[in-house]
Amino acid sequence: MSEPIYIPLHIPPERLEQPALWFAFQRSSILVIDPASAALPQCTGLAEHGIETRRSTYLGMLDGRHCYAAEIDEQHPLPSGWTALGLREMFARVDGTTAALSGRALQILNWERDHQFCSRCGTPMRARGDERARACPACRFTSYPPVSPAVMVLVTRGRELLLARKSEWVPGRYSAIAGFVEPGEMLEDTVARETREEVGVEVGELRYFGSQPWPFPHSLMVAFTAEYAGGDLRPDGVEIEEAAWFDAEALPGLPPSVSISRRLITTVAADLARRIPRR
Ligand SMILES: [Zn+2]
Repeated sequence: MSEPIYIPLHIPPERLEQPALWFAFQRSSILVIDPASAALPQCTGLAEHGIETRRSTYLGMLDGRHCYAAEIDEQHPLPSGWTALGLREMFARVDGTTAALSGRALQILNWERDHQFCSRCGTPMRARGDERARACPACRFTSYPPVSPAVMVLVTRGRELLLARKSEWVPGRYSAIAGFVEPGEMLEDTVARETREEVGVEVGELRYFGSQPWPFPHSLMVAFTAEYAGGDLRPDGVEIEEAAWFDAEALPGLPPSVSISRRLITTVAADLARRIPRR
């Protein structure tokens, strides 16, 4: 299956020539017309299905089809067969582009809902015509949809991987070290700080692995690998309950496959297992 092509736009068409694709949310769950395939509703307006929207916003085009995000009251009854699906469950059933666009839709809706009034002077904000932004007509304060970068690092030592677990995770699940970027930090600084704070370990040079937008609520996870460079493994006991070195062919329980952490860990483990013989 080839990935669909998404073109971000913020000015809606004057009128719809064909049905649009709707990314409609009740709280953070997305409305699908078939839970198995997570197919989205396609119509010129949700009113066609008797659904009233609280607010809606134009997203652009996906494979030549106009796309809208819409917020629906949590209590609103749904047409027969429709389901409000958790976004993580939806991600596991659709292509990466549609998953990312669903996350974008939810983040834009939440940002619009939370920026009805100027946070500086309290005046009602207005959508700007030239870009995806909301501006205050009184004091000109402008708000853009926020993105919060976070880093993830998989530390390796020979053919071993450093994995840690948080107490709130399901029993047996481990993942790579991760944390949010603080103001003024380079990504390298965040990685060094998080590995030092959370597990007492120093790391060498970073190698970029990949990134993933994660709309809970609006992060962008940037994943790296790095070799162990010193320090005794010492979980902080606050964020990290337990941390250990795992052989590349004896991994513990891992995060679900929709997350970049799973892809990072399994890709690196397979590479180490192939390159470095077991002692
Ligand atoms: Zn203002």
